[in-house]
Formats: sequence, structure tokens, C-alpha cells
Amino acid sequence: MRLEGLHHVTMITGDANANVGFYADVLGLRLVKKTVNFDQPDAYHLYFGDERGTPGSILTWFEFPGAPRGRAGAGMIHTLELGVGSDAALDFWAERLAAHGHDAERRDGVVRVEDPDGLALELVAAAERSGDGASGRGSGNPPLRAEHPEVPAEHAILGVEGARAYTHDPTAAHALLTETLGFTDQGGGAYRLDGGLRHVHWRYEPAPAERGRLGAGTVHHIAWASPDEDHLAWQRRVREAGQPVTEVRDRDYFRSIYFREPRGILFEIATLSPGFAIDEDPDHLGEELRLPAMHEHLRAQLERVLTPVANPRAARREAARA
Ligand code: ZN
Repeated sequence: MRLEGLHHVTMITGDANANVGFYADVLGLRLVKKTVNFDQPDAYHLYFGDERGTPGSILTWFEFPGAPRGRAGAGMIHTLELGVGSDAALDFWAERLAAHGHDAERRDGVVRVEDPDGLALELVAAAERSGDGASGRGSGNPPLRAEHPEVPAEHAILGVEGARAYTHDPTAAHALLTETLGFTDQGGGAYRLDGGLRHVHWRYEPAPAERGRLGAGTVHHIAWASPDEDHLAWQRRVREAGQPVTEVRDRDYFRSIYFREPRGILFEIATLSPGFAIDEDPDHLGEELRLPAMHEHLRAQLERVLTPVANPRAARREAARA
């Protein structure tokens, strides 16, 4: 039994429209689902990814309008790494981000930028990344791209490559990570999770002295992917390792369990199925507000309180028709 790499990462935004503008319009990801936080339905839950919202490509946000910025500290993820195909793609992104008014910093093999809420992103030329290939499973992740009229396919973002978290003890060994979940310890706080198709990098770095604070621009949790048939066995395995784990929660697009890893970061294990086409036509993903059955009776009220968010893809189609 092994995890299939990353499923999704979930963040907090203070402004859904700025968030959609950045990830769907500028970065060219597809807004694949517009729903609410199932546990707190007056807050949006927006999902972005490749054309289908394939696990490994998914970034999601809870919106709390006007939420003050948070700050990553010990026990929190501070940077997400998104793969691109080449150095030429990095050049493309450095230029495109700057042209849209974002401070993009080009370093060796990396373009670093903050999203509108202050979340740190690094675009990395994934296939050339050092350390890849060492596992003998091939050097690059299969590309998971979305289509955008201003982003040539060869420069598109190809999925999540890795995430980095702060801790006061980056190199301490933790059996939960390696023995229970199957991460490979690469030394110096760096880990790698290999699935059958995809891998993801996971790294601990020394935390700043200042305490972290959840808020806009911070990461809420990270989810690893499980084949559906293994999901209950993962729950048992985490529980048997002595880590308290939640009951299985039905998130409509996948099923989830949650637990804390030893440094305090909220982990989720989410199933690969059924995916985002379960309640929308695949050609129109993320265009209408979708509510889980338990919250459907709140629709009129929610449509009044939630900030209207247009899906850029639907907007482009409308514009083309006009
Ligand atoms: Zn999640």
C-alpha cells in the first residue's frame, strides 16, 4: 500500500476575486470548482487545477473576506513549489508575472513570487531538479496542465512539485512520516513521497522565532492521495501508529481523513475519486456555485452573502461570443 503523492493543498484567502484573478487569469490554472467550506458553509471553497482538477495539480482556498494576513511559523507550511517544464518556461513566467504587476524574483532554476495574500510560491523547472531520478522511477512528474489562451502549453504550470514547512527541529526523525506514511528521508529535513505515477517533495526548514498565525496567505492543510480502496486501511494505519485521526468525511469530490503530523502540521489523506465532474459537465467545471446536499437548503441565503465570483473561462467564452 502506498500513497499516490500529493492530492491538494488548502490555503486561506481574504479576497476570492483577487485569488481567482491571480491563479486562473495570471497563472493560467483552471478554476474547477466553486463550492463552500462544508464545515462552515458561509465561506467559499475554491478549487484550481489542471483541466480536470487531477490530484497532484489541485490548490484550494477557503475565503474569509477581509481576513488579516497570517504568518507562517513553526508547524506551518510556508512555500509551495509548482513545476514548469524548462528554463524557458521560467523566463516566460518571470516576464508574465512582472507584466501583471507581481514582484517576481528569478533565481537559479526558480521564479519566486507571492500571491495577492502573501503566500510564497516557487515555480521550479521540475525535470531538471537535482535529486530527481535518484529513485529510478524517472525524473519528472507527468504533466498536469490547464489551457489558457495567453499561456503556451510548453510553459504551463504542470502540477505541484513540493511544499516546505517550518519547524524548530528540521532534522529530527519521525517514524510517522517514514514508517507509517512511506516518505523517503533524503536527509537534512528533505523527504520525498513516491506514488506509482507521481512524486512530491516535502521539506522541513528552521522556523523563524516569531510564532505563526493562521490568516490570509497561509496554508491550512496538505492532502496526500490514496487509491479509494486503501483509504480505510490508511485510517487504521495512522491510528495504529498512535496518531489521533478523524472519521472519514465525505467531501463530495473525494473522501478524507485528517490528523496532525508530529510537528503540528495538519495532514489529510484524500481519495483519488470521484473527482470534480461528479456534479458538473466537464466542459463547465467551476462555473456555478455547487453545494453539498446537506447545505443545498441554504442556497438562497449563501448566494446573498458570498461575494460573486466569475469563472474567467466562462467570462472568456462570453466575451468571444459577444
Ligand atoms: Zn483538504
